[in-house]
Amino acid sequence: MDGIFSLIKSVNEEYIEKNLFYLAKYPLPCRTLNYTIDGHTKCTLYETDDFLENELRRSGYAVEKEIVPVQAFQPDNTVPHGFRRPLPDELWYDALNLYAKKGGKEHPYELIIVLAHKDSQSWLKCAPGAYDNAVGTVAVLELARILANYPARRSIWFLWCNEEHWPWTSEFAAKRMAGSNFKTIAVLNIDGIGGKSADDVKNHLLTNVTRFTTPEGEKLADLLAEVNEKFKIGLIQKKFHAEKPNDDDGSFVKAGIPAAVLNIGSMPYKNPDYHQHSDTPEKVALENVKCATQLMLATMLHLDVHGI
Ligand SMILES: [Zn+2]
Repeated sequence: MDGIFSLIKSVNEEYIEKNLFYLAKYPLPCRTLNYTIDGHTKCTLYETDDFLENELRRSGYAVEKEIVPVQAFQPDNTVPHGFRRPLPDELWYDALNLYAKKGGKEHPYELIIVLAHKDSQSWLKCAPGAYDNAVGTVAVLELARILANYPARRSIWFLWCNEEHWPWTSEFAAKRMAGSNFKTIAVLNIDGIGGKSADDVKNHLLTNVTRFTTPEGEKLADLLAEVNEKFKIGLIQKKFHAEKPNDDDGSFVKAGIPAAVLNIGSMPYKNPDYHQHSDTPEKVALENVKCATQLMLATMLHLDVHGI
């Protein structure tokens, strides 16, 4: 337990802040396959991939890549959410899933996956997507950094996928996992951590909601609540039952891996800047992102030591 406490303390808010601004303001104003900064040769999502790969290499990881063909969503002002799915004859791109993997020493075929979608909204011209989902992208990077030299008992994979292009590249990853020899004991999707209503921001509430659809997911949500108490993380931690699987955790549930949950700052999602150009890094409650990252870390360590 002491080991877990000291690792939790090493979650670094300054790194989170620095990486968040790097990916959602400068030098990268957004993360899509259909937007390239003037004078650059690669699109902003490939530049994001390069950034993540370099950071992971510095921590000692070899980065594995999986190519998935996707399209950009198209703006559509006739629907409330403002976009539509692409048509088959519209432009296709190669998106990448990025993996950093740690092998388990005692139970190598039991797997803990922590993931985030790294792309921003492809139907908006260069929207920063700070809460959605630069925060998750940098949280997973921070987890990988901290666990780089941790001797894992079970296998731990860090995955960065794409969910603001179509199809979601987590579907591809999940189907491959479901057909492998690994037994996935937990999938923690980190998307929009700390994102909450204007009132909750004003009251400085530190929140996290774990959304589940299956009994296995509920068990994980209950574990997150226990871990939050046990390690005095300080979050107002809630669980939320959804009828249907959705988002990147839903890709795993649909593929037959039921222990998959979403972690987010509020559910239903109340961030007023959701899918707007105003979802900027200046507005991100860094302390909330730090606490939620600590909660993910403590939960991963608990699962690594005890299994499910
Ligand atoms: Zn989104």
